[in-house]
Amino acid sequence: MKIAITKADTLKKHPDDSNLGFGTYFTDHMFNMDYNPEKGWHNPRIEPYGPMQMDPSTMVLHYGQAIFEGLKAYKTESGEINLFRPKDNLRRFNNSGHILCIPELDEDFVLKALFTLLEIEKGWVPGEPGTSLYIRPTIIATDPYIGLRSSNTYRFFIILSPVGAYYPEGFDPVKIWVTTKYVRAVRGGVGEAKTAGNYAASLYATELAQKEGYTQVMWLDGVELKYVEEVGSMNIFFAIGDELITPELNRSILPGITRDSVIKLAKSWGIRVTERKISIDEIYAAHASGELKEVFGSGTAAVISPVGAIKFDDKVITIGDGSVGPLAARLFNTLMDIQYGKAEDPFEWILPVEK
Ligand SMILES: *Cc1c(COP(=O)(O)O)cnc(C)c1O
Repeated sequence: MKIAITKADTLKKHPDDSNLGFGTYFTDHMFNMDYNPEKGWHNPRIEPYGPMQMDPSTMVLHYGQAIFEGLKAYKTESGEINLFRPKDNLRRFNNSGHILCIPELDEDFVLKALFTLLEIEKGWVPGEPGTSLYIRPTIIATDPYIGLRSSNTYRFFIILSPVGAYYPEGFDPVKIWVTTKYVRAVRGGVGEAKTAGNYAASLYATELAQKEGYTQVMWLDGVELKYVEEVGSMNIFFAIGDELITPELNRSILPGITRDSVIKLAKSWGIRVTERKISIDEIYAAHASGELKEVFGSGTAAVISPVGAIKFDDKVITIGDGSVGPLAARLFNTLMDIQYGKAEDPFEWILPVEK
C-alpha cells in the first residue's frame, strides 16, 4: 500500500523545549487509515493535523470501542532519532484490538507508516535533556450507529506530541494511596488492553487520592481486593530483601514494555526478579521488618517513578528514608541512557528511524 502525503500549507511555530509539559502540543501532520469490511485497512495517508468530522452517533463516542498506544522518539546527541521497542508496542496494540473486537493491523506496514510520518516531522523531536516526541497511535470505531455491537468501520490514526522532561525539578518520589473501594480492572475484563474505558474508570479514585494529597492510586485486584496490580497507569515493583517483585500478568494488568525492560535489565545485573502475586499485607509486613527497601512504578511517560510513601487503611509508611533508592536510580539512568543512545543496548531495544 502506498502512503499518500498531503503537506500542511502553513507550519506551526514550535513551542519552547524547556516548557513542553505533557500532551499539549501537536505536530503539523498526522497519519490516517480507514477500515471497512470490503476493503480491509485502506487509504493510508499523511495529512495536516486537524479536527476530524464525525457524526454524533459515531460508535466510539457512545460505547468506548477504542484502543491506543504510547511510545516515544528520542533525539540522540548526534541528532539521530531513536525509537524504543516500537515493535512491542505494535504487537500490544493488536492484542488490545483483539480484546476490543477491532480488526488487526499489519505491524510491519504500521512501522513503515510511522517512519514515514517521523521523517516528515523529525524537526519536532525536541533536543533538551529528558524531552522526547510522544507517539500516540489510536483506533476508534466509526459506524454512525447507536445499536450495541462492534463497529464495522474504524479509523486508525497516529498523532505526535513533543513532551517535556518528566522530572524537570529532579527525580522525586511520589506518594501513593491504596484504595480498597475502587478497582481499575477485574479478572475477565479488559484491564490488559490499552482501551479508553480503563482510563475513564480510574478518574474518580485518582481525584480522591489527589484530594488527600497523594499523587497516584495503587490499585488492588478486583476480586479479593488484596493483591497489588498497578499504580496510576504504571506497573509497580517492590524491592524486598534481595528480591525484586512485580505482580504477575494476570490479564487485568497492562503488560508494560518498561516493566519488561526493568525485569530484563535487573536480571542481567544478577538481581533475583520474581513475577508473582504480592499482597498489600505482605508489603506492610516487609516494611515492619525492615525488609522493604524500594518501591517504584514503571511506564513510558516517567520511565521509573520512585514511591516515597504509601497510605493504606489510614496507615502511612515511608519507603526507606523517603528519597530515591539506588535500584530505581540505576534503572532510570540506564534506561534513559539506552533510549538517548548514550549507553550500550545489549537487548537491541533501539530502532533508529531510517532515512
Ligand atoms: C501504558 C500503561 C502502562 C505502562 O506501559 P509501558 O509500555 O511501560 O508504557 C502500565 N499500566 C497501564 C494501565 C498503562 O496504560
